[in-house]
Amino acid sequence: MPLDTAINLDEAIEAAHLPSLMTALVHLTGNTHHLKPEWRPAYQPMDRNDIGVPDEEQAIMRAFAKGVITDYLEGRREPIGDLAIEALRPMMDFITGVDIPSDYLDFLEDELDLMGANSKRPQWETPKLKAAAAKMKVLVIGAGMSGILAAIKLDEAGVGYTVVEKNADVGGTWLENTYPGCRVDSSNHFYSYSFEPNHLWPQHFSTQPVLLDYFQNVAARYDLKKRIRFETEVVSLAFDEARGVWKATLKTAKGEETLEADAVITAVGQLNRPRLPDIEGRDSFKGPAFHSARWDHGVDLTDKRVAVIGTGASAFQFVPEIVGKVAHLEVFQRTPPWCFPTPHYHEDVAEGKKWVLENVPYYDRWYRFWLLWMATDGLLPAVRSDPDWKGPDTAVSEANNAFREMVAAMLRGQVEGRPDLAEKVVPEYPLGGKRALLDNGVWLQALQQPHVDLVTTPISKITEKGIVTSDGALHEADVIIYGTGFTASKFLSPMKITGKGGVDLHQQWGGDARAYLGMTAPNFPNLFMIYGPNTNIVVNGSIIFFSECSVRYILGCLELLAETGAKTLEVRKDVHDAFNEKVDEGNKLMAWGSPNVTSWYKNEAGRVTQNWPFALVDYWRATLKPNPDDFVLKEPATA
Ligand code: NAP
Repeated sequence: MPLDTAINLDEAIEAAHLPSLMTALVHLTGNTHHLKPEWRPAYQPMDRNDIGVPDEEQAIMRAFAKGVITDYLEGRREPIGDLAIEALRPMMDFITGVDIPSDYLDFLEDELDLMGANSKRPQWETPKLKAAAAKMKVLVIGAGMSGILAAIKLDEAGVGYTVVEKNADVGGTWLENTYPGCRVDSSNHFYSYSFEPNHLWPQHFSTQPVLLDYFQNVAARYDLKKRIRFETEVVSLAFDEARGVWKATLKTAKGEETLEADAVITAVGQLNRPRLPDIEGRDSFKGPAFHSARWDHGVDLTDKRVAVIGTGASAFQFVPEIVGKVAHLEVFQRTPPWCFPTPHYHEDVAEGKKWVLENVPYYDRWYRFWLLWMATDGLLPAVRSDPDWKGPDTAVSEANNAFREMVAAMLRGQVEGRPDLAEKVVPEYPLGGKRALLDNGVWLQALQQPHVDLVTTPISKITEKGIVTSDGALHEADVIIYGTGFTASKFLSPMKITGKGGVDLHQQWGGDARAYLGMTAPNFPNLFMIYGPNTNIVVNGSIIFFSECSVRYILGCLELLAETGAKTLEVRKDVHDAFNEKVDEGNKLMAWGSPNVTSWYKNEAGRVTQNWPFALVDYWRATLKPNPDDFVLKEPATA
């Protein structure tokens, strides 16, 4: 592999994440001798770039890395891909700085695609499977991140499919959300398909146009558009029990039509139906008003008095972007968000790091694993409830309290000199109760500007002139922007979905969506959900990871049909119910399940319908392959 002469190797190594680099070098040295205990990084989630190794030792590490990489570039070393699983143990402990449980070993082997093992790559090789795949017709609903993924994997398996998409293009949430400052808040080197790494992400957390470009490029590379029917919306799905097929009613520009499929995969996301708050007089406001996910770029905010309702993930991103434009900004906060210190949130990825990602074998995959651990599974102990916790309600365990104190001190530090703000911006609910937002300081800088007010008095109504708070004050505004989130717990709405015996899915759920592994529900054979109930994450893992696990499992279900010759597969109710009990127990033990937290993760009855309560590795394992005993497999009553 030629060295790009524009890159200085020293600079590239300097820019690399050193623990990931040292771990990747095992593939070039063939041994772990250089993973010395004194070079093992300290686990430091609050400052991920501080590896806790003295500078002089780091210099020795870099010199070592330079020697090995130079040997590789000059042809004296070859990368080793087939490391034995036991060799991974010291590598994963080294890279994370903690002793990782052994149930990560086979997961890691799979994730790193070592020994040619990759459970997410469908292998329908036998003539029987190939013939069955060619006959199958699958309907995929949605062409966002999950729908694109499903299409790619169905293609790889040779299964016939059609994608329908309500929008005019692919991209889903990254197409619809165009508000200023919109960007991903999971590290891009993890928030990308495992099989489509992008070593050239311009930023660690790239902006919406970059994300949209990524998904559109992937769709183009796999030539998916010819299989997607755009501006076509599924209005209803009905299961024909006698024939074991689904009938979809589609709304198109030309009117309604029906489409039949052996199986349906919903890939409609959880966060695509904007929720406007139920505030009295909302429609009486005379000025422009819009939701963040339907940003009205025709409204010029320059020198306007702007009211923003909501301080969640979207407002947190667009407020710092618009603050410099407006004459006056009032931000209406019901609950403050927890923020997670992320100094490099808006920073570019150094050119040297891109080079290392592209050119040092296995660096990209180890770096991805490190991100997964640091951002997600490694943080779980800090957001897990201790049933014996006797401390204040503002935390759920000793570790959670310590974490809280650290982050709260950082927040207060950002508003020194503004005790009024300090009181408002430190949440009273436990850290981890809701997704913590990535903080590089711009949010609290915006709120401290002289023309900005953070209003915490509850809103009582909206009038034609602005917003009235419960103290009777009228906050006059020219524009209202709703950063009030989505109707996330109304899974699969507004589609009407009728299963066996005419059962309506939304009636079956009764506002309390449940599924087995987030994917299948009793009475709904061959209907599979991606990003369904209880598959969302609170600590900042990548939802792409979940979608990839789900798609693998769904392909496994289709393979089971192909292998057995059965027409339909329906999850057993007892299996489904037992799984949901486990999930509920798990969620009760997490900060987001705490009774002190109110959030959109919970439905009206207070049950957490959105979140996965366990580690990512647990979802990976649970979705490896369907267990035929979990399902009732059936031939149709009539052919
Ligand atoms: P959100 O996190 O649900 O925030 C909605 C905000 O509106 C909250 O502050 C909420 O207050 C407030 N609110 C709702 N109804 C209200 C009312 N009637 N009166 C006053 N305030 C009200 O919504 P979001 O910011 O759009 O984000 C939703 C999810 O989308 C995020 O959690 C994340 O998963 C995803 N997202 C991701 C990114 C990213 O990756 N970059 C960016 C944006 C969104 P309470 O907290 O009191 O309910």
